[in-house]
Parts: sequence; structure tokens; C-alpha cells
Amino acid sequence: MAKLTNSKASTATKEKAATKGAVKAKSDAAENLREFLVDGLKDLYWAETHLSKALVKMQKNASSVKLQEAIDQHITETEEQIARLDQVFEILGEKAKAEKCEAMEGLIKEGESIMKETEAGPVRDAGIIAAAQKVEHYEIASYGTLISYCELLGEKEAMKILKQTLDEEKNCDTLLTKLAISEINLEAASE
Ligand code: FE
Ligand code: FE
Ligand code: FE
Repeated sequence: MAKLTNSKASTATKEKAATKGAVKAKSDAAENLREFLVDGLKDLYWAETHLSKALVKMQKNASSVKLQEAIDQHITETEEQIARLDQVFEILGEKAKAEKCEAMEGLIKEGESIMKETEAGPVRDAGIIAAAQKVEHYEIASYGTLISYCELLGEKEAMKILKQTLDEEKNCDTLLTKLAISEINLEAASE
């Protein structure tokens, strides 16, 4: 039997992948990394806009003044992050559009459940920090991925803008950890 050429081999691999359990792509599915980058931006656009409202609710339910201030600061940052996404869409020559982020929807719902499951005070504050950190980690992962795509695609300007947001998400996460371990979780533990 003749040896498979590279192109034949990759066709064979694709065919193999298309057999068992393969997901059928939608008609508008991304065909390249650039399109996939734009999809990711739309996902984050949805996530950030819905998060800005969810953070207001978390802030109102926090008892610790320091936690209220930390969330307040991140509400302002989130507004700026939405504006940055607008800028990135523009740089890429794409229309700013939101597409539902299933993960953020779930994380926001989980945050609401946590608030319902806790009495207002240090325990709820510990819960709000937990929920907020899950959100920040999702954002850190998402922005990190899109920044690496921008780098590969030579989108330096977009990369720089997204990096600013990534730094804010990381700072917020660090601040929440500090607040949790230095006081809020300790207070919750002595309730
Ligand atoms: Fe954000
Ligand atoms: Fe998402
Ligand atoms: Fe954030």
C-alpha cells in the first residue's frame, strides 16, 4: 500500500474525528482563529455587561465596607472594560456585538444562590468573595486566551488594550484574596 501523503493523512484524521461523538458545526461556525477571536470578544461583551449589573447587587449585599469599596472599584473598572471591548471591535473592523456567555450566566446565578443561602454579614461576605473570584478567574482565563490569539494574529493594538483589562481582573482577584484571608473569612469562621 502506498504511503499516505501529508494531505491525505490529515484528511484521514479529519474523517476519523467526524465519526464518533463529533459535534456538527453551526452554519456560521468560525473557520479561522480570527473569527474565533471575534466570537470570544462577543462572549466577553455579554459577560461584562451582565456582570456590571450583578456586581451592583453583590455590592449592595456586602456588609464589610472594605468589600463594598473593592466591588465598587471593580464596577467602575468593568464599565471601562466594556468601553475597551468597543475599542477592540473597532480596531478589528468588527461591529460590537454581545453573544450570550453561558459560563458567566451560570456564575452570576451561582452568586445569587450563594447570597440566598447565607445570612447577611461575614458569612455572606465570604460567599460574595467566593462568587466574585470565580467570575474573575473566568475573565482571567478568557482575556488571557484572546490576548494570545491577538499576538498570533499580529493584532498588537488590540492586544495592548486587552492586556490592561487582564491586569485589572488579576488585581481585583488579588485584592479579594487579601480581604478574605486578612479579615472576612476569619470573621466568618468566628460566627
Ligand atoms: Fe471584567
Ligand atoms: Fe463565555
Ligand atoms: Fe472582573
